[in-house]
Order: sequence, then C-alpha cells, then structure tokens
Amino acid sequence: MSPAREAGDSFEGEQNLNVTSDILMKALSPASRARRILSPSDPGAYAPGFTLPSAPRTGSRDRLYRARRMCKRTLLVSLAFSVIAVLGSHSLSVNTTAVSQKQARRLFGLQLSRNATRLLMDVEKYYGRRVREELVETWDPGYRGEAEVISDGTPVIRLNSHTGRNETNIVHELFHLKFVAEGFPKRKWARYVGVSEDINQSLTHDLDSLLLDALVHSRFYPKMRAMGYDPDLWDRRDIKSMIGISMKDGSHKLVTKEVLIPVHFFKFYLESSDRALVAQLERWSVSNNLESALDVAKKLIGIVEQSKIDTPQQQLEVYIQCLDTLFKGSARFKVASWNSEKLGNIQQQVVTIHIVPPK
Ligand SMILES: [Zn+2]
Repeated sequence: MSPAREAGDSFEGEQNLNVTSDILMKALSPASRARRILSPSDPGAYAPGFTLPSAPRTGSRDRLYRARRMCKRTLLVSLAFSVIAVLGSHSLSVNTTAVSQKQARRLFGLQLSRNATRLLMDVEKYYGRRVREELVETWDPGYRGEAEVISDGTPVIRLNSHTGRNETNIVHELFHLKFVAEGFPKRKWARYVGVSEDINQSLTHDLDSLLLDALVHSRFYPKMRAMGYDPDLWDRRDIKSMIGISMKDGSHKLVTKEVLIPVHFFKFYLESSDRALVAQLERWSVSNNLESALDVAKKLIGIVEQSKIDTPQQQLEVYIQCLDTLFKGSARFKVASWNSEKLGNIQQQVVTIHIVPPK
C-alpha cells in the first residue's frame, strides 16, 4: 500500500527533478492514516527476521516485510524492517516526572510499571494529549507495533493485537514518540533524473526502517535495558534461527533486496545485546559467501563508531553518510531542507532528502 498522496505534495520549481509520486513520503492525515496502516512502521519490536512459514501475511505488508517461508525447496529468508517516527524540538527526560503508586497507568489494558508510567506521562506532557491506543488485527505476527503523531498532534501507538501487546513494545513506541518530540524528523524523498528507478519508495521505506531506525534504537535501547526491558529479544531469536540454516548447498537463499543485506547486519550489530551472537552472525556470513555484504556493513558500522549520533541532526547526517557509502557509484544523497509542520500544538520536523546521480 502506498501512502496516500496529498494536495500540495510536490516539488514545483525544482529543476531536473524527476517528480516521482511514488517516492514522496507524505505527511499523514487522519484520512490517509487509515489507508496507511501498513506503511512505514515501527520496528521496534519488529524483528529482523523471520516468521513461521504458516504466518498469515497481508499483501501490502509483503512489500515491507518478507517473511521466511517454505517455497518448494527454497527457504526464503527475510530480514525485517522498522519504522517511522516523528519528531519536534523539546527535551524530555525519563526522570522528570515523579510517579506514585496510585498514578501508575494502564495502556492497552496492561498495568504499566512506574518507569513506563513516567515515560508515558512525560510524552503526554509534551504533546498535551493522552496517547491514543490502537490495536491492529491484521498485521503479520512479526510486525508488532508502530508510533505516529497524527495531524491534530495526537500521539498514537498501534500494537499488533496478537503479538504486540506487552510493556516492552509500549515502552519502545513511547521512546519513538519521545524522539519525535525532541526533533527527530519525518523524511520526504525526491529522486533526480538519472538515478535508477530501483531506488524507489519501497526501498527508501526499507532504508528508514532498517538503517535510520537502527541508529535511533541504538540511542534508546540502553535506556530500555536500564529500565529492565529486553528490547532486542526477538531479534536475537530470529538471528539464532537464521544462523542455524546453511545456504551453502543452494537450498536456501535470502530474499531481501541485495543492497539491504549489509544493512541487516548493521542493524543487528547496533541493536543486539549479545555480542557473542553478533560474532556468530559474522562467521555465518563468511561461511555463506556473504563477505562482500559484511564488508559493506563494517564500513557503515565504522561511520557510526566515528560519529556522534545523539541529536536528530547528527543522526540524519550519519544516515546520509551511510546511504552514500551503501550506494557508492549509483547515487548520492543530500539533505535539501529541514522544515517543520504544525501538528496540533507541536511542530514536527520534516527533512527532505534528494537522491542525485553519482558524480
Ligand atoms: Zn523502533
């Protein structure tokens, strides 16, 4: 499902710009939101990985998420995606709000811990509204939740009604809302003439979901662990499943887009709490003829390790550097503008990224 097109969403006045409607990411309106339920989502609880072969799948979701499944003799391995997040410029702190036992809140029918309640109250204080809860029946099991700020400024958390209703996922999405409040931007993209049409909206969604989200997760997963959560639990399980499978005899293969293979490694490296498992994944990659993807992943990791990624601006800068490395020789990425959009009482940051031909 493509995000709905909205009036005024064009790049009029820009020269040499191939205004491809399929690559423009729109602000979400309440009307489009309903249609967009399967578009860029949050990762969080989303495992780069696999679902059971019998997992129900939706057509729209297939574009973003390729589940592992048995197909004749080929086991299609997939890796996951993450998502969207929104953001303003206000500093929130997990520790600012005192919470008494009586104040402990419920969300999605779950009694939240004091830490989670504190985070929830801080988020709601910023937005000036209660977080809206939405359960989604139709998502793939591996897609557990997402967060969004809708056009009237209401922060929304959506959870998979089957696999997503737990406090870890709620806290994960609250952190995304917190980051939006701190200025993490929504992305819009425009592709110039001369750039391969393979770099399309589907791919930019995936890049946001895997690469950019990994940067963001690496900022708040340590905080979640300090609060007692295990944010990468499902990712570890998925990777363990994957490395138990050999692709050497040709009976299995990765179905993710080739350019994304290094990004999956990168994401797991940044997010995993199990360094021994990261090392196992590296050995598995070498033994399954994925050294070149691993080399690219190491370059991306090197960029992150030599950079600061604390602020939204730094995160975007590192994101762009990683994209330039990933698409070296085929495209370059440039931040064309930072703007803001008013959503209710808050200003949401919006960054426009131009995809231009290589030099
Ligand atoms: Zn996330």
